[in-house]
Amino acid sequence: MIRALLAAPARYWPEWSPHLTHAFAAAGLEVDLVAEPDGGDFDYVIYAPGGTLSDFSTLPGVKAVFSLWAGVEKIIGNPTLTMPLTRMVDPGLVEGMVEFVTGHVLRHHLGMDAHIHGQDGVWRNDVVPPLARNRKVSVLGLGQLGGACARALAGLNFDVVGWSRRAKEIPGVACLSGDDGLEEALARAEILVLLLPLTPSTGNLLDAKRLALLPQGACIVNPGRGPLIDDDALLAALASGALGHATLDVFRQEPLPPEHPFWASKGVTVTPHIASATRPETAAQVVAENMRRAEAGALLLHLVDRAAGY
Ligand code: NDP
Repeated sequence: MIRALLAAPARYWPEWSPHLTHAFAAAGLEVDLVAEPDGGDFDYVIYAPGGTLSDFSTLPGVKAVFSLWAGVEKIIGNPTLTMPLTRMVDPGLVEGMVEFVTGHVLRHHLGMDAHIHGQDGVWRNDVVPPLARNRKVSVLGLGQLGGACARALAGLNFDVVGWSRRAKEIPGVACLSGDDGLEEALARAEILVLLLPLTPSTGNLLDAKRLALLPQGACIVNPGRGPLIDDDALLAALASGALGHATLDVFRQEPLPPEHPFWASKGVTVTPHIASATRPETAAQVVAENMRRAEAGALLLHLVDRAAGY
């Protein structure tokens, strides 16, 4: 019998354990799934931030840790986590992110706020938005999520450029990399989407200097990670009118404290880290498949590259 620990906030247990149990059975695995360390040995840890487990050296027999989150910045630096670590790549997560990003890009593209907030008897028919084909959108990060969003936006006819660490080819998307590529992607971005992981190379990537490269009035949609952007520089750029709007889903501190100036800034839409949730019904199958692979001695899917930080 395989033993697995679901090391996650308490609310995960009722939500996840039925789906995990079902997925293990469907994968032909006999698994004793446990909510708390009980002094016994474990073969695997299924992990989400916010639970009680912080010292993985207390679980010496663990063969792999499967993260239920796509972003692993909260555990990748844990020195006690010496076993292989996988992150979540899941069709539900991708679909959810594509919906969030296209929704918010379309909101800014169409100037929907003018009408949603302008129900005041004034007939505002003087602004005709360009067609999507004439709207320049840049997506930073072309991985599982950014790549899917770039493809979806290109499918809606947006003029899309993407930027990633390694060179890429995505039909309908001009793919850039390197420092020059970043400058080019920023300089043209009427709407900028951030889907980079948080790593030592991406923290504060959008500092005052890089924010100043964006065209006048540009909008930002950030479902990546809060620390990708310098908060103060962003607020200053919004206050001066250099930037038009920022839709922010992720923050340096979550929940975002009530006194944080983002809440009161007219140029900011705060969403509470809801861009795309890991859906247990699809994600449990990803965990089960990786456990099946580990038991069969096969290569794990979605292994985290610790040197790259994601
Ligand atoms: P991936 O690892 O699949 O993709 C990451 C992308 O970022 C890759 O294209 C990678 O380049 C690029 N990248 C990483 N470092 C750099 C760098 N230094 N310079 C340029 N490009 C870089 O991740 P996902 O797409 O699955 O997820 C992205 C992030 O989205 C997560 O890390 C997480 O922070 C966030 N997220 C947010 C959610 C929310 O609800 N708000 C939900 C889920 C995830 P390359 O292709 O060359 O490797």
